[in-house]
Amino acid sequence: MQKDLLNSVVKITRHRDVDSLELSLLSTISEFLQPTEAALYKDLSRFNGKGIESSASLLCDEQGKIHWRSREIIEEPTKELQCCLESACTISLQDKSGNETRWIPVVIDDQVSGAVYIVAKHLNSSEQVTLNALCRIYENYLTILNESERDKLTGLLNRQTFERKIKQLLEDQLHSHNTPQLQGNRNKRYDESSWLAILDIDHFKHVNDTYGHVCGDEVLLTLAQKMQLFFRSSDLIFRFGGEEFVVVFEPTTLEHITSKLAEFQQYVRDNKFPFVEQLTLSIGFSRMSPYDFPISVIENADKALYVAKNSGRNQCVYYGDILDEDSQEHPSADDVELF
Ligand code: GH3
Ligand code: MG
Ligand code: MG
Repeated sequence: MQKDLLNSVVKITRHRDVDSLELSLLSTISEFLQPTEAALYKDLSRFNGKGIESSASLLCDEQGKIHWRSREIIEEPTKELQCCLESACTISLQDKSGNETRWIPVVIDDQVSGAVYIVAKHLNSSEQVTLNALCRIYENYLTILNESERDKLTGLLNRQTFERKIKQLLEDQLHSHNTPQLQGNRNKRYDESSWLAILDIDHFKHVNDTYGHVCGDEVLLTLAQKMQLFFRSSDLIFRFGGEEFVVVFEPTTLEHITSKLAEFQQYVRDNKFPFVEQLTLSIGFSRMSPYDFPISVIENADKALYVAKNSGRNQCVYYGDILDEDSQEHPSADDVELF
């Protein structure tokens, strides 16, 4: 048991990203404590988001087979979960048949960031020690990973994480594309796809030159917080460079993404920022299909951003639109009529 446990700890700490770490923790809990249910909850307000998310969860059936459930926002958290998050204390309940349900807080930088949830038969004292030790290892390792995945100033995902997250997202999409039964309700519509947008602050150099770099940093931080509040928690937000941000959106229609981005531009224009009178953004965005290379999606969105900047800034441009214009100006061989 001790050797197996040590091997599991080695496995858990081999991961280099938070998502795999979460799955690995739940797999280990499942292997050693045979729960009927286990989950990880994340308090999104800690990341300037809204609500509580079940970021990984599993159910174990009577034959011992594990069924993973996808990530979801918990609309109505139980009072035990809320109590665990608020008090930073472990909450446990026992039913008449001896099954125990536990919520164990996950504390990062002295703040509760989420909870481990487990439903299992009565755990003896050595099993309880194992469970607590696994939760503490997870906590310590999560602290290190969070620091390496996130930008220090804004707390958003950083550029290094971008490559890996996009690759993973495209692989998952390709997998669900080829496995129709895995397609969730959300991306069932034929006209829905993922989108990638680059948002760049207009004339940001002027902000630095006028008010200084420290004030510029405060503007960047405020914009990052507004982005986290405005977009869905399932949309991935990266600080891509100095005053450049990338958002990757879950599958939706062109119509919806166009109006969502326009609304955000308006929201930034209408909202107060420290020091500056008004802040505007230029946006370029592109469709992201499972067959695309991440680098080409970025390049496309970047071309659209370039057009937005050259059209007077404070614009939102879709790559598909400039592609149409481009192909009209430079017709391809297929379009040329031969006389
Ligand atoms: P444009 O409308 O063409 O995007 O103009 P711009 O001034 O925003 O763009 P430019 O690329 O000329 O300048 C970007 C500026 O962003 C220059 C740099 O001083 C500033 N910047 C980059 N990183 C940081 C940072 O971490 N903090 C602060 N305060 N400023 C930064
Ligand atoms: Mg700029
Ligand atoms: Mg820029």
